[in-house]
Amino acid sequence: MNTFTIIFLIALTLSFMTQYWLSKRQIKHVLDHRQQVPDAFKEKVSLEAHQKAADYTVAKARVSDFDSILGVIFLLILTLGGGIGMAFNFWSTLDFSPVVTGLGAITTIFLVMHVLELPTSIYQTFVIEEKFGFNRNTPKQFIKDQFTQLLLMMIIGLPILALIIWIMDSVGPLWWLWAWAILISFSLLMSWLFPTVIAPLFNKFTPLEEGSLKQRIHGLLERCGFKSKGIFIMDGSKRSGHGNAYFTGIGNNKRIVFFDTLVESLDDEELEAVLAHELGHFKCKHVLKMLGATTVMTLISFAVLGWLIGEQWFYTGLGVTEPSSAAALMLFMLVSPVFTFFTQPISAFFQRKFEFEADDFAANNAKASMLISGLVKLYKENANTLTPDPLYSAFHYSHPPAAIRIAHLENNPVNG
Ligand SMILES: [Zn+2]
Repeated sequence: MNTFTIIFLIALTLSFMTQYWLSKRQIKHVLDHRQQVPDAFKEKVSLEAHQKAADYTVAKARVSDFDSILGVIFLLILTLGGGIGMAFNFWSTLDFSPVVTGLGAITTIFLVMHVLELPTSIYQTFVIEEKFGFNRNTPKQFIKDQFTQLLLMMIIGLPILALIIWIMDSVGPLWWLWAWAILISFSLLMSWLFPTVIAPLFNKFTPLEEGSLKQRIHGLLERCGFKSKGIFIMDGSKRSGHGNAYFTGIGNNKRIVFFDTLVESLDDEELEAVLAHELGHFKCKHVLKMLGATTVMTLISFAVLGWLIGEQWFYTGLGVTEPSSAAALMLFMLVSPVFTFFTQPISAFFQRKFEFEADDFAANNAKASMLISGLVKLYKENANTLTPDPLYSAFHYSHPPAAIRIAHLENNPVNG
């Protein structure tokens, strides 16, 4: 066993144990607070809704615990168990070019992993979501989605993967700079194409009808000086009862999307406040900052891979006997999350900071009271717990816990 194997095993054990321990804390904290609605929400949330949120949170946490145990087992089988090595050895015997061999092996491994994860995903949708009344998906729709995703992966994913493997082998020691530049340009192109080309493959987008809501939203967009390619209602209810709103696209191809389920449950003023929050993310340059951070992280990742690719211990330490660019890429994609796990609280911290800034923006450009009542409805209808464990939420939550977020809005100086 080489030193790298031991480092990998220690990191894997630490990240798994931390995750498991946090999840146990979350379950205990939610159950301990199950009997009573927190004071701040007493008038708005019934005990029944509060207990449903607790049970839903606990059920989801248990599935995700099971999922992470499976994840560790698969990872060990693929690496130290020799799974990746086997896939590459098999494809090498077929005598294709290095690009096709790499492409074949990586695709095989991804397909196997996807198939192994299917039962959990089916259980989540058709058992957990169903039990709590959120599931609107049908087996037919589920299968159709699987095939659409597979087709997209083949049409879009395979060519870019082939290009990157080719660059790794062909452009010399600075290949990682080229690969980085190409991957970033490609993902910008995808973000630009997403709203008009990819998202419509999965959902129907209907322009918002003329009326009081549209007028209200146009007023808000004008006040904030925001240009977009339109406001759309998405048929989210086709798959799930959960409601949401989001911005999509970049540059001149930006769209505002409301789930039909959200429009059904919030009134016009609340929708305006929720949209003002989303606009805040643009106006406070959060989108640009996140993009910048991803660009830098990707560059660091490629630079590290550029170093690892020439180190024999990297391959043998993870169960691969025949080094190749594609094998290094595959190992890196599988193993790096084990090491980056501990940076998660840092990115979660910045995301929560952005949420507060977007809430302030919403309070200044719409009504804080309307954002609060909209948020409470969303927490209630999505059965999000109001009482998460503080450590668990610090590690995992991209949004501040309900009580803290609402207290922040209530303390806003322009609270109206
Ligand atoms: Zn937000």
